[in-house]
Amino acid sequence: MAVQTVESANASTPAAGSVDLGPAAALSCRECGHRVPLGPVFACEECFGPLEIAYDFAGLDAGELRRRIESGPASIWRYAPLLPVPADVADKPNLNPGWTPLVRADRLAAELGVTGGLFVKDDSGNPTHSFKDRVVAQALEAARAFGFTTLSCSSTGNLAGAVGAAAARAGLRSCVFIPHDLEQGKVVMAAVYGGDLVGIEGTYDDVNRFCSELIGDPAGEDWGFVNVNLRPYYAEGSKTLAYEICEQLGWRVPDQIVVPIASGSQLTKIDKGLRELISLGLVEDRPYKIFGAQAEGCSPVAAAFKAGHDVVRPQKPDTIAKSLAIGNPADGPYVLDIARRTGGAVEDVTDEQIVDAIRLLARTEGVFAETAGGVTVGVTRKLVESGALDPALTTVVLNTGDGLKTLDAVAGTGLTATIRPSLESFRAAGLG
Ligand SMILES: *Cc1c(COP(=O)(O)O)cnc(C)c1O
Ligand SMILES: [Zn+2]
Repeated sequence: MAVQTVESANASTPAAGSVDLGPAAALSCRECGHRVPLGPVFACEECFGPLEIAYDFAGLDAGELRRRIESGPASIWRYAPLLPVPADVADKPNLNPGWTPLVRADRLAAELGVTGGLFVKDDSGNPTHSFKDRVVAQALEAARAFGFTTLSCSSTGNLAGAVGAAAARAGLRSCVFIPHDLEQGKVVMAAVYGGDLVGIEGTYDDVNRFCSELIGDPAGEDWGFVNVNLRPYYAEGSKTLAYEICEQLGWRVPDQIVVPIASGSQLTKIDKGLRELISLGLVEDRPYKIFGAQAEGCSPVAAAFKAGHDVVRPQKPDTIAKSLAIGNPADGPYVLDIARRTGGAVEDVTDEQIVDAIRLLARTEGVFAETAGGVTVGVTRKLVESGALDPALTTVVLNTGDGLKTLDAVAGTGLTATIRPSLESFRAAGLG
């Protein structure tokens, strides 16, 4: 995606230059290290590699930083000193996502045979009920800093709702693009905030290509596409999952983390967040393994991992896990690196296993996950069975979205019985 659009996308740069995004110092190319000033660009002008935020963390003392974090707000903004946002970010109108529960999942652990401590990081309680509020909150600050007046994105569903809500709160216009055939819960959730919601006849990858074209066109001028021209800022929001998990474990890195993969950005930045905490001295430097989870109907990264490839061959998605249905994941190769470097793996599960896992998580822990959560729980089960995941180690599984958005996945779940309002009828139904 980056390759064919780098020039047009980098061309529509409004007010770059000196902006206050806290500790963010510059953009730096992940491939060649080339640095450019902070601006709404996402691809390296030298090698087309992805740009990411380079920070100036000089002068941060671990003890002082930890105290500051612990006395900060109950949202991602407790970590503002580590994010590309101005210091007063919490005072601006935004959705204040994050600081979601880390659920100790003993009953699920017993079902899966995990003995070393199992936790579910439950992000379904974010303001628009998925982890996407974390990333959009960063992109919103970048959009404000660069003077964009419209917030936009290409989305598999959850992002559209997160962008619509954030724009509404901030008083910006929004216009977002989704595949036309998404779940009703996601469509309604994206539309209700009053921005423009456009269905595109095609897959997510078609939607994404269209957005890249729009960025280069006068029609897309002054538009901040959170996951395209603001992608370097957006992506940093996923670091907050790593920060929260470690803080909630008492400033300790878990041994194993199971993360869903759509574009692979979340997994890549969770790794970045863990490495930052280690290098800043906030947690002890101990090894951790990161596992990636996909649906079999869209498993380009899992397929590459299993085949021992470094490159990811695009697929045409066909799965109920629509929020993860990206057939050509931008960060796929980096996910492969991280899974291999940390001793993790990338695994996939069938739609049927996804549904079973949604039900299992709900029945054991009272957490109703969307299909993406079914993917991580299903993959965790498979990894324990195969021995790839060590059941004696501390394991964190991410649930990144709310089951109310993907009700169709558990269609057929309903009333145990319908009875007359009498004890006789109650007993006759076998309930008493
Ligand atoms: C977007 C999304 C992800 C992960 O997305 P990446 O593109 O890999 O960062 C995971 N779960 C849900 C529910 C999502 O909406
Ligand atoms: Zn480069």
